[in-house]
Amino acid sequence: MRNKLINVGSLLVALLLASAPAVAESPLRVVTSFSVIADLVKRVAGDNASVDVIVPPGEDVHRWELNPPNVLALEETDLVFYNGFDLEPWLRDVQAIVEDELPMVALAEHADYPTLPLTVGRYENSANPHMWMAPQGAAAYVDVIVDTLSAHAPDHAEAFGQRADELKETLEELDAGIRERLGGIPQTNRSLVTSEAGVAYFADAYDFEYTALWGVNHETLGKAAAMARLQATLADKRPPALFYESTTPKIHMDAQARYVDLPLAGPLYVDALSGSDGPAADYVAMLRHNTELLHAALGGAREDD
Ligand SMILES: [Zn+2]
Repeated sequence: MRNKLINVGSLLVALLLASAPAVAESPLRVVTSFSVIADLVKRVAGDNASVDVIVPPGEDVHRWELNPPNVLALEETDLVFYNGFDLEPWLRDVQAIVEDELPMVALAEHADYPTLPLTVGRYENSANPHMWMAPQGAAAYVDVIVDTLSAHAPDHAEAFGQRADELKETLEELDAGIRERLGGIPQTNRSLVTSEAGVAYFADAYDFEYTALWGVNHETLGKAAAMARLQATLADKRPPALFYESTTPKIHMDAQARYVDLPLAGPLYVDALSGSDGPAADYVAMLRHNTELLHAALGGAREDD
């Protein structure tokens, strides 16, 4: 999109050069699709790039309509990072308009991390897009982020690389911490029952079974058949608790919990960070919050707790 403005921009630069002895190089501008990716990109970019976000903290990444500030940010950016695997169906319009003019990088689609299929809902057997929910999945995003930023701003490649290494070390510690914290949950309680299949990668990484009402939030929610199927599953196998997420309507899981007389715990943060004063202000805080919630609700207490 910027190419359309490039002639005007070149003229402006020429005028500035004529009137000033030196012009500072403008920093790389990056737009990210939602709050989780924005946090990871900011950690790698540091002060060597400006990072904007389309879907802000607290809002569901699956369902969004671009607003005028979003459009302006997209017009002015050098680069877009998004998740891909159709997590952001509202980005299709942007892709159609910008065609090849604006680099748009789908982190999950380029990440060196094995995909899991959606096992429920309208998009069954497609790749489950929520790869960031496993810290090693997020680390694979970081690899793509650092390579892309370095290609666009090679002068800062060393700084990007250093920050990416630090972040990946943090993610490894996070992974080990979660494993340790949830390791004491008895096998019979290792069950995550949620509205959306967004916890699949987390469940896979930490040895939980998961059951969800639907695959992704942008499909029709709370269908009667899905509700009945989950009721049948819960009648057969009773986990200690059911969970709801911060960006999904609570009513479906609340109805299930009442029907089968099980406690409802939440919210889990999956598709959005919380605001800066909330329990999931950044990626690491989000996974730690979820871990503590699971630990409390599924009976993770051990003698040494
Ligand atoms: Zn989701």
